[in-house]
Amino acid sequence: MPKGKIIKALSGFYYVLSEGQLIQCRGRGVFRKNKITPLVGDEVVFQAENETDGYILEVNERKNELVRPPIANVDQAILVFSSVEPDFSTALLDRFLVLIEYNRIDPVICITKMDLASSEEVEKMKEYAAQYEAVGYPVILTSSETEAGIEQLLPYLKDKISVFAGQSGVGKSSLLNVIRPDLDLKTNEISASLGRGKHTTRHVELISIGDGLVADTPGFSSLEFLEIEGEDLNYCFPEIEKTSENCKFRGCLHLSEPKCAVKEAVENNQIPTYRYEHYKDFLQEIRDRKPKY
Ligand code: GDP
Ligand code: ZN
Repeated sequence: MPKGKIIKALSGFYYVLSEGQLIQCRGRGVFRKNKITPLVGDEVVFQAENETDGYILEVNERKNELVRPPIANVDQAILVFSSVEPDFSTALLDRFLVLIEYNRIDPVICITKMDLASSEEVEKMKEYAAQYEAVGYPVILTSSETEAGIEQLLPYLKDKISVFAGQSGVGKSSLLNVIRPDLDLKTNEISASLGRGKHTTRHVELISIGDGLVADTPGFSSLEFLEIEGEDLNYCFPEIEKTSENCKFRGCLHLSEPKCAVKEAVENNQIPTYRYEHYKDFLQEIRDRKPKY
């Protein structure tokens, strides 16, 4: 039986990409017994009726599942932040990073509008880039205006499902337009590409960009830590998690516990103060969170 990947779901049809062909499929009862609704991003087994139509028979196990946008098997999030206009914010970046780590998705940090940054701002961005790379995150400095850094971004998209994330106005659409000018995305609107009217229901779709697939809707629009518990924060800050192996107490939260390796690392400038401060802020926020019921 042929296999493929759902790249679009609309009005009860699933559009399955298989060996370069798009097959319009309906679901066929089997997997429904297990209460599985196929999602964009799903790897499926289907039966072809002819060259263009078929039935989905099986949905493979997912490695993850985003709620907004509804999409399965997301490999990575391209976190788009502008150097200026709006100004770069480590607090907001760390917030996105926590949510992405929590979802077990790999982040790639992409800093845009480098052409608008002053030489001082460029130096500052390079400093931040080095600090985030030390944590283990790739950082790419780009400009959609001069196309600087685009060559570096493309290999990251190859053979993966990526979701772009970031505030409105940071340059997500502009970036995608540079990579795939034929899509002619309206700036400020990643999803304008596919000829939908303004009032039609939003459906997520994967579009092929470079050698990979990219969601046409930005991800992580809600930045609240609704599901996250205080203990989870440790692994959402990889350098804190690594350093905490040397804390005296198991389950150390790195607040006022004695012999805390994390606090020592902050004092010795091995962990940037702002990262630690954000960790503490987020922990407080989680503790202050109103109970759900
Ligand atoms: P989005 O909301 O994240 O999709 O952001 P857009 O791509 O719509 O960009 C917002 C504004 O910033 C637009 O006016 C773009 O022309 C501008 N912009 C985006 N990227 C760059 C860049 O690299 N350099 C400059 N100079 N302007 C940019
Ligand atoms: Zn500690």
